[in-house]
Amino acid sequence: MALRVTVYGENSHEFQENHPIKGIYPDGMHEAIAAGIREQLGDAVEVRTVVLQDPEHGLTDEVLAQTDVLTWWGHMAHDKVEDAVVNKIHARVLGGMGILCLHSAHYSKIFRKLMGTSCSLCWRDGDSETVWNVAPGHPITEGVPMVFSIPEHEMYGEYFDIPAPDELIFISNFAGGEVFRSGCTWRRGYGKVFYFSPGHESNPIYHQPEIKKIIGNAVKWLAPTMPSPTYAPGAPNAKPGWWKNGRHE
Ligand code: ZN
Repeated sequence: MALRVTVYGENSHEFQENHPIKGIYPDGMHEAIAAGIREQLGDAVEVRTVVLQDPEHGLTDEVLAQTDVLTWWGHMAHDKVEDAVVNKIHARVLGGMGILCLHSAHYSKIFRKLMGTSCSLCWRDGDSETVWNVAPGHPITEGVPMVFSIPEHEMYGEYFDIPAPDELIFISNFAGGEVFRSGCTWRRGYGKVFYFSPGHESNPIYHQPEIKKIIGNAVKWLAPTMPSPTYAPGAPNAKPGWWKNGRHE
């Protein structure tokens, strides 16, 4: 069965009107991210997009139950995401759903809840970023150069207030000398989390081949690897030999 991927985009109207984003992403960033995943993974994935403005942000119980990997890009409207939806996403990650948090999603409700820390960082406008692959051999870096450049990007720098990552995949440095842990993984319950910082809306980051490759690899790596009590609500509990009432039989 194809991997079921849901791409969430903030897609705020005011945000689009105030930024050059329309020229770079005429259909919205979420559609560019989704197109990149389809291009990388082909028939191995079924990708749908949802936006903040949809009822329940498009993340209904049904959609979440049918999502193996969720990707999240948000910036200006983290506080408009309903807590009830965030709690459901959190439960799904603990139950096995993978989540890819991109760029300013470091401040999203779901990422902060998964991390348990402030997730604050240092930032400033335009710079060039050099991304260093510090995990050769990891599935996320398969076919990714050991080092590559993003000609123009917002600077995100340390200190990044996150729990120590389970795996550090990328480190970035900037023309100003700053460094940043730009690709990090964690496990939360049965689920996997990957944070990847490139993706400022004013730069064509999600059109860049290396970035598309990394996101495709990440989606594949984030796929659930085993059933869990909450992975498919209702189903695993019904299976003898698996979990029942929280106990392994
Ligand atoms: Zn940004």
